[in-house]
Amino acid sequence: MNISPKSSFAKPPVVSRTVGIDLGTTRSVVAFIDGNGYPQTIINGDGDMTTPSAVAFEGGTVLVGKDAIKSLAITPDRVVQFAKREIGTQRYIISVDGVDYPAELIESFILGRLRRDAERHFGETIQDAVITVPAFFNEPKRRATMDAGMLAGLNVKAVINEPTAAALAYGVEHGLMNEDGVFAKSQTILVYDLGGGTFDVSVLKIKGESIDVIAVDGNSRLGGIDWDECILQWITEQFKTQCKATDQQIKTSRGILLKEAEEIKHSLTSREKVAVKIRLDEHVLQTHINRALFNSLTAHLLDRTRFTLRKVLEESKLKWPQIERVLLVGGSTRMPQVIEMLRKETKSILDQSVSPDQAVAYGAAVYGRILSERDELDFDLDEATESGHDGSMRITDVNAHHLGVLGVELKTGRPQGQVIIPKNTPLPAMNVARFKTAKPNQKSVVIKVIEGGDLRGQNATTIGTFSVRDLPNGLPAGSPVDVILRYNNDGIIQAEAIVVATGKKNRIEIKREAGLSADEIDGWQDASKDIFEALGLD
Ligand code: ADP
Ligand code: MG
Repeated sequence: MNISPKSSFAKPPVVSRTVGIDLGTTRSVVAFIDGNGYPQTIINGDGDMTTPSAVAFEGGTVLVGKDAIKSLAITPDRVVQFAKREIGTQRYIISVDGVDYPAELIESFILGRLRRDAERHFGETIQDAVITVPAFFNEPKRRATMDAGMLAGLNVKAVINEPTAAALAYGVEHGLMNEDGVFAKSQTILVYDLGGGTFDVSVLKIKGESIDVIAVDGNSRLGGIDWDECILQWITEQFKTQCKATDQQIKTSRGILLKEAEEIKHSLTSREKVAVKIRLDEHVLQTHINRALFNSLTAHLLDRTRFTLRKVLEESKLKWPQIERVLLVGGSTRMPQVIEMLRKETKSILDQSVSPDQAVAYGAAVYGRILSERDELDFDLDEATESGHDGSMRITDVNAHHLGVLGVELKTGRPQGQVIIPKNTPLPAMNVARFKTAKPNQKSVVIKVIEGGDLRGQNATTIGTFSVRDLPNGLPAGSPVDVILRYNNDGIIQAEAIVVATGKKNRIEIKREAGLSADEIDGWQDASKDIFEALGLD
């Protein structure tokens, strides 16, 4: 189902070749801006508007999407789902035929398939893309997503936050944006995005040529799948008590039972009570489940989203009456329990006008169009000046986590963190941390950069070790070295060091804690050539 927006924001009657990709945990969507300036979803090779974010390894190649889901029934250990949950961590997520695949690669196979579908649609090569990520994604996860895009042969023009994209789509849908891409009316909105595997809340202000993100919070490991797991647990207990099924039988069929659980959940969205009939080897489970039971099995999950909702509002320093709209995004916001909770909690107007499945991809496509127009204007600055409009819709994001450094408390020897760029600072942000050399004639300084966590470094994500090398000769002990940390618009961190005594800028080497190195990316690019060829990509 396509939305038919009430306003078109783009003037020239050309189709934008920059695609917007919502790379979801469970499902992905690709959209583009048509000749009338409306966002449209690209129908995939299976004839669907969304593609399951699943990859199956079969006969030396990979299947992506619906076919991969089908393989769950036969070769579950050769199928990967929910790779997005693991992206940007050190873990390899699947080992097939002796090869360990990182999440970046799995995501790149999905992106490759989406790119092929877009190319089929346009009948030409597609490279430029805007990819969305949860607002709560930390730096390594953003960078890993960009790497996945690169591995899929995409030119990732920007990585933007899913709620920001949803807000853009909302703006277009409601005619808040005029044909110059400017928001005529200003509005403060809250986006509650509960998808398959991630949960995000953002408070944003849309006004004029800008979307300013005020506060974000969320959980990169909370989503519809957790609701499915609760039903799966219930199914498991029923199988054990009613049918005497063994743990082994249940374990072997886990993938299929989880799919059944999801279907039950979907039925409970439209019905109060659902009949359950599942076959597992020689056993047949026949029972039913109602909404009240489902709600009580999952109440703790809903509570977690309520807790985050309140926290974000507090961090935004706003009160509910100041929130003019609450946008519901993500497939899981279809659950009646979510809508009821939001109604009670927010006292604001709930807005479900943009399809929860398409909103994010639409917004990414809108942003893609804005960026390509900006590129064109860069070639023709005179024209931009004449028209008095530089086509630059500004998105101001905030960082979702504290960024700091971890040192050692001299007295106690305990780890001691220091926040350099606090959470919810508008991006780009820059700050300086001053370090002192410990010894005379010290040649290098090593700094551990962390994101999130507490002041002792507990629960923090280590971004990497930044080392300042080649300090000038003869520096006395205690010489100050300023390290400038820069959090860019795209959420990527850069660092630079200045030796205060000489004013000399120093090269900083970043040894990344997680993710692929440039060499590894090259290696994977070669190694997965055959797979990309099989996906129909160069
Ligand atoms: P993601 O972006 O994380 O892939 P989506 O926004 O596509 O997630 O939402 C997928 C989630 O929405 C899945 O957990 C799915 O089960 C859930 N979902 C989709 N439709 C419904 C429905 N009718 N009722 C309840 N949950 C639904
Ligand atoms: Mg999503």
